[in-house]
Amino acid sequence: MNDILNIVTNAYSGYANYLWREITVPSWHNYFWWLIGLSVAVWILELVMPWRKGQPKIRQDFWLDAWYMFFNFFVFSLIGYAAVSDVVVFMIRSGVTAVTGITSFEWIDVRALPGWSQLLILFIARDFIQWNVHRLLHASPRLWEFHKVHHSVEQMGFAAHLRYHWMETIVYRTIEYLPLAFFGFGLQDFFAVHIFALTIGHLNHANIELPIGPLKYLFNSPQMHIWHHAKDLPAGRKSVNYGISLSVWDWMFGQAYIPESGRDIPLGFEGVESYPHSFWSQLVAPFKR
Ligand SMILES: [Zn+2]
Ligand SMILES: [Zn+2]
Repeated sequence: MNDILNIVTNAYSGYANYLWREITVPSWHNYFWWLIGLSVAVWILELVMPWRKGQPKIRQDFWLDAWYMFFNFFVFSLIGYAAVSDVVVFMIRSGVTAVTGITSFEWIDVRALPGWSQLLILFIARDFIQWNVHRLLHASPRLWEFHKVHHSVEQMGFAAHLRYHWMETIVYRTIEYLPLAFFGFGLQDFFAVHIFALTIGHLNHANIELPIGPLKYLFNSPQMHIWHHAKDLPAGRKSVNYGISLSVWDWMFGQAYIPESGRDIPLGFEGVESYPHSFWSQLVAPFKR
């Protein structure tokens, strides 16, 4: 127990300093300024070439989502991520050691491979795991209550990408880490993958038209992801287009659905009109049901 406490304390105090440094010292290896820079860039795209031309420039819940971006990506995900991932790796490893006596991990040690192929493996493996977790968020009635926060977006824009309940971070990270703990990646390896995924996620939610041609079978896009947020779903389906960065899993497993242009379709879920619109009420909403 003391070991776990130490890991958490070290991760948090380390990250408190790190957080402050990130904000005050801009650099190329800096999540905070990447988040700001990417958000401004995608917002400019929305202003210059909007897909829904009638949508207000400061759309409904824009500032709510801006706060979610900061909270989820930076405060909770990054800080929580350091603590949670270290603890999960520690627990998996001590659990496995206790049961099997095995003390050497990283069975598939990808550190021997060139940097770019490590990143590619990490990106694809992580995206596929996340696709499965996302399906679970829709399939489980309990988890759906948490995921509803993300689906409460009625006017879509880039910042909606990071509107989600903090419980999702816990669910994603925990499940993600089970297999990834055995690959032998270090935390610093995640930077490029995180930034790439952040860029694609921002674009997928942005109010822009992104004609990517045949690349649509590989990558998610705003024209595909809008259907994931559709209020009216095909009969008998929990949802469609579960892809995070890649769309290939949806095409492979029969979940892809783009019947027509989704530019003006109603978004949300049944009863979204009465769903709360403030940060705190959305945090407690899943626990009330
Ligand atoms: Zn979803
Ligand atoms: Zn979304």
